[in-house]
Amino acid sequence: MNRPDCIARRGDPSHLFVCPACRADARLVSAWKALSLNEVPVAVDERFVSGVLERLRRGREELRRRRFWAAAAAAAIFFFFAGLAHERARSSTPTAEESYAKLASPDALGELIPN
Ligand SMILES: [Zn+2]
Repeated sequence: MNRPDCIARRGDPSHLFVCPACRADARLVSAWKALSLNEVPVAVDERFVSGVLERLRRGREELRRRRFWAAAAAAAIFFFFAGLAHERARSSTPTAEESYAKLASPDALGELIPN
């Protein structure tokens, strides 16, 4: 039912039982009245608020510190493996003289390794 149809019967309280639109209006009006009655200033404990703010600030600092150390650890690990790869690449390519020397006289540890 739309509202222009029921304007003539708005004064009748029993109309609220049959009209959803007028019932919704009545509920809104009563909710607004309840809100306006409950608007009592709330006493706030300043120590509680300052304690909460202090803990929030400490939590943010702790989070920032943890992120810094996690980033530093990730960078250290990255550079360690990058340096290790560079070192392996540099040492694993034998020169021509080293290759011929190994053919002529195998190193002492090479004889210990089983084939
Ligand atoms: Zn109505």
